[in-house]
Amino acid sequence: MKRTIQSAVILIFTLILATGLSVAQVAESKMTYTVSMDQPVNHYYHVTFRYDGVSSGSVDLKMPAWTPGYYMILDLAKNVVDFTATDESGKPLAFEKTAKNTWHINTEGVESLNISYYVFANQTSVAESYLSEQRGFISPTGIFMYVDGKLNHPVTVRINPFTEWTQISTGLDRVEGSKNTFTAPDFDRLYDCPVLTGNQEVVKFEYKGIPHDIAIETPGTCNRDTLASDLKRIVEAATGIIGEIPYKHYTFIIMERGGGGLEHLNSMAVFADVSKYQGSEHDRNMLGFFAHEFFHLYNVKSIRPIVLGPFNYDKECITNMLWLSEGGTSYFEELILNRAGFLNREKFLAHATRTIGCHENIVGHEFQSVALASRDTWMLFFNRNENSEGVTINYYEKGSTLCLLLDLRIRYESKNENSLIDVMRTLYQLYSKSLNRGFTDEEFREVCEKAAGCSLADFFEYVYTTKSIDYAKYFGYAGLNIDLTPLESVTHLNKTIYKRSFLISPVKTPSVLQKQLLDGWLK
Ligand SMILES: [Zn+2]
Repeated sequence: MKRTIQSAVILIFTLILATGLSVAQVAESKMTYTVSMDQPVNHYYHVTFRYDGVSSGSVDLKMPAWTPGYYMILDLAKNVVDFTATDESGKPLAFEKTAKNTWHINTEGVESLNISYYVFANQTSVAESYLSEQRGFISPTGIFMYVDGKLNHPVTVRINPFTEWTQISTGLDRVEGSKNTFTAPDFDRLYDCPVLTGNQEVVKFEYKGIPHDIAIETPGTCNRDTLASDLKRIVEAATGIIGEIPYKHYTFIIMERGGGGLEHLNSMAVFADVSKYQGSEHDRNMLGFFAHEFFHLYNVKSIRPIVLGPFNYDKECITNMLWLSEGGTSYFEELILNRAGFLNREKFLAHATRTIGCHENIVGHEFQSVALASRDTWMLFFNRNENSEGVTINYYEKGSTLCLLLDLRIRYESKNENSLIDVMRTLYQLYSKSLNRGFTDEEFREVCEKAAGCSLADFFEYVYTTKSIDYAKYFGYAGLNIDLTPLESVTHLNKTIYKRSFLISPVKTPSVLQKQLLDGWLK
């Protein structure tokens, strides 16, 4: 919030300097979107955009090429149909496509601009929009164009749902007294707030006085009270890790069964079947998924690599650090479940065993570092083929494991004074809140080394190279054994890997320090 307000102030100040406009004139500039969906069966949203206070001879309207959190170029402009631009009297204004996602409009000196277009929306995805008689899911990056150079401009959004629908669920701030009008302080915030319209059931709970909505598309026989109380325990454990709650309201958007979820600052959009949720052991398997998307509100939305916000919506934002942003979130997902009482120590370690095995028992780990997997995700993650398993790795798996090892190492080196949690708190307070930016690879390493009180050069080789990981040393810090006995081998190209069980078990007589470390780490 602080970042966006500051940016908006700087932008307005710059605008005043650049154009000589008075404050009153700048304040009149207003952007309003209206989204209608009269015939959902046709899968078309009708979008109109009113821009008052136009002060330039031309305007470039741009549609983002991707959706933050979903690291793939989607070319969302491909779904735009029947684009028109008119002045206040309805007179058409000339425009041309100057790039695949840019509409260049000759404004001819008008002060108000009316834009109209349709968006075809028939993708079942958390990163793309969908419209049918079942629901309307608005993934904002593919619906709302921004005026080039004015990403920091406030925007008002009016949603006109299909006549048979009664609910609108979103993380956007609702205009007081209005059912369907919302505001965002800038387009980054708008793009971070998906909208679900339909007849979803909304279950509510509060945590520390903050309202949380659970919007469920197919509630079925779900035990609403149990689901709400389980999610509340997740919220309590996750927010307790960082120690601060940065949102004023939070919305869980839960669509029909399926897979996939996307994180946002004060909402999540997921496909998950909660229609039979009773809080059983089996049901609780999906709580890790919710914990993961929820913790992202810190790790990636606030605590983030430097290129991941503010974003360049035109092209790939390449970083080495998705091992921390995604793998780290998977690690904290397990810690949250442990702290919330959903995953005991034995099961936590069994999950760690499984994750290590998934990474180590494929030959790809001999060919691709986790930093490279992060950089190449834009072309490789969603485009897997017969070559993928042999030469690539999953940065969720290696990243989660590295964060676990880093946590143990910091606890060991600092004699249980600090942990990876202290690192995350420092990153949140220093980079996200004080400096309003992300951090570089070097800055992240500095914070870790400060917490450990020593150089971690040998650890960071595991990030940037394919060097073999010394699991026995790291688990030994917590008085744990890991079984590294080779079971069988496979060869690919010029590399041989030995498959192992990686079973983790406690040593018989741990030292006082080992016991302290393990007890401080896991419940
Ligand atoms: Zn994630």
